[in-house]
Amino acid sequence: MSDLPADAPPRPSRSHGRVSIRASLQPRDLMGGPPPVRGAWEARVVTLFPEAFPGTLGQSLTGKALDTGLWRLETTDLRRFGLGRHRNVDDTPAGGGAGMVLRADVVDAALTEAMTGLPAARAAWPVVYLSPRGRRFDQSMARAWAAGPGVTLLCGRFEGVDQRVLDHWQMEEVSLGDFVLTGGEIAAQAMLDATVRLLPGVLGNAESIAEESHSSGLLEHPQYTRPPVWQGREIPPVLLSGNHAEIAKWRRAQAEQLTQARRPDLWAAHLARIKAKT
Ligand code: SAH
Repeated sequence: MSDLPADAPPRPSRSHGRVSIRASLQPRDLMGGPPPVRGAWEARVVTLFPEAFPGTLGQSLTGKALDTGLWRLETTDLRRFGLGRHRNVDDTPAGGGAGMVLRADVVDAALTEAMTGLPAARAAWPVVYLSPRGRRFDQSMARAWAAGPGVTLLCGRFEGVDQRVLDHWQMEEVSLGDFVLTGGEIAAQAMLDATVRLLPGVLGNAESIAEESHSSGLLEHPQYTRPPVWQGREIPPVLLSGNHAEIAKWRRAQAEQLTQARRPDLWAAHLARIKAKT
């Protein structure tokens, strides 16, 4: 906090999702006091673009869950920790080359504030740098995050973040996929969406989690709804038969066919699991 510029604007350090943006007008938050008593699953996001949040997470089921307090979202604005009159957060890469790198001291100051009051053990509270170099995010990671009390996500920009701050904080690098985004914000929202929808009460129907793609290790079967005939295409008759055993069998066969055809990697893992069980 000591390297905060003296002219830092008197605004709350964090926004607390949609509910708490309103609540953040309370004096306690303006004074930068401790965060309200926790309990709900919580995401803390360090970003140069706090206004990008909640973004799509504010819509539909995740948005409703945010409004009703089933989960909480706090953003920490990296710019507030920038240095000098221009609040610089980045500098040129050591060794030369294109672009800019986020400074270790600036990111550290923001993380220190974002991590206030949270468990220090990484197993108890993951601290993640969104990065194309990271382990690829998947459903099992979403499940692991949803099972804990929350996560802290650092969104990079430009060429990324000074390696020393990643090492110092023992951050885990996690990637949305094998492509490069201009910043971590979209990746953070995608990962939070996948995680939050697994929290109890967020989806109307818990069964949809149990049956969907990637939860059973198979891709999901095709879905249909009214009208029964559209553009000359019929709904597969078995789905209209009312025979639940046959429907389940058909869906299972479709899921297996799809997985085999589209994702040989998942199919091989599925066969290996079956073999291990027998
Ligand atoms: N020079 C870096 C890429 C920087 S992209 C490299 O080659 O590894 C700028 C920022 O976007 C990164 O700091 C990271 O936070 C985010 N980002 C880019 N691609 C991403 C991905 N696939 N998954 C998660 N975050 C990503």
